[in-house]
Amino acid sequence: MISVEQAKKILSENSERGQIKEIALGECLGLVLSENIYSPIDVPSFDNSAMDGYAMNFEGHNEEWEVSNVIQAGDTSETIISPGKAARIFTGAKIPKGANTVIPQELIEVIKEGQIAYSGDKISIGSNIRLKGSQSEKHTQILEKGQVLGAGQIGLLASVGVAKVKVWTTPRVGYIVTGNELKEPGTPLREGEIYNSNGPMLEALLKENGVKQIQGYKASDDKNSLQKIIDRALSENDILLLSGGISVGDYDFVEDCLKTAKVRELFYKIKQRPGKPLFVGKKEKKMVFALPGNPASVHSCFIQYVRPSIRFWLGKNAVWDADHQLTLAEDVEKKPGLTYFMKGKKTGGEVSLLKGQQSFNLQAFATAECLLELPGENEVVTAGTIVNVYDL
Ligand code: AMP
Ligand code: MG
Repeated sequence: MISVEQAKKILSENSERGQIKEIALGECLGLVLSENIYSPIDVPSFDNSAMDGYAMNFEGHNEEWEVSNVIQAGDTSETIISPGKAARIFTGAKIPKGANTVIPQELIEVIKEGQIAYSGDKISIGSNIRLKGSQSEKHTQILEKGQVLGAGQIGLLASVGVAKVKVWTTPRVGYIVTGNELKEPGTPLREGEIYNSNGPMLEALLKENGVKQIQGYKASDDKNSLQKIIDRALSENDILLLSGGISVGDYDFVEDCLKTAKVRELFYKIKQRPGKPLFVGKKEKKMVFALPGNPASVHSCFIQYVRPSIRFWLGKNAVWDADHQLTLAEDVEKKPGLTYFMKGKKTGGEVSLLKGQQSFNLQAFATAECLLELPGENEVVTAGTIVNVYDL
């Protein structure tokens, strides 16, 4: 059996990246750039007005002008303003030749139809003009390889006219829930049966992590039918997750079936709680995670091992690091030799444990904010210890 650190090291050395593809902006949310982006144009691409008002050649003191033109946002014609003249102008409209300043309409006095004046000290020469290239200059870098594309980055790309970018693609992920006892929520239960909570939970965890192509499968505890489903799921996905059937029970066939499917073992069993019998393997570039069936094991193993692997696939870096290091609020007794991952809540700089940490018990997930890691050798981890914390 290996330690959590060894397991993460082996996985980090064996993780795979997705492919790099050029993808339309509308499909890029949450994906990671695999190239630096340089602005193909100046933005703004022309000097334009920051206000609704009047554009003129302002000389810095009280003046009067005759209004000779109207320029609307979107007008592309070339307008020239001669000295003593002004153009009525609107926000975003092109500054006419001969104008150096925009005076907002609320500071302008309309003397009579077509005749305006300004007196005051709020405006200086050059005011209220957004200069060409003042957001992004042509050929300068605006985004960096490795950045995650959120709404702001996507807006920036659109503003410089970029319609497609190179990103790492998302994996196709399949998950197989195993167990004769499983019934779907919404159907009646007979005594001895339970609801399949791992399936919906895994599906949600995958979606939370940006996976778009998800395929769920269900297998009974029958070796032949499980083998068929594993073979099919392996052929249809880049990453395969299984829940249940990987322990030492008489009906736990997952390990055998994976070996028959030529999945190469990277490791099996980790000195941790929950989730000791985790199996991780690979078939060519495909990653396989056989998670122990207890829901807390599924959840904890997903956060510790599957999530970083998916993040790495998506092109992210530093995926194995804890999100925070916080102070443990209370003493915790544990079995020495096992790393514990426990559901917790953050308060200020501290992290405290929730009640109901058993691996079958999902109630603590109602309020859990994080998993905290209590390291292997200790028998008691004392209040005040700095521990690794992983956000949920
Ligand atoms: P196993 O690893 O197959 O021995 O399962 C361990 C425990 O997890 C058993 O109590 C199972 O009933 C439970 N379990 C397995 N699969 C699921 C599932 N999809 N949803 C909820 N509990 C499950
Ligand atoms: Mg089972």
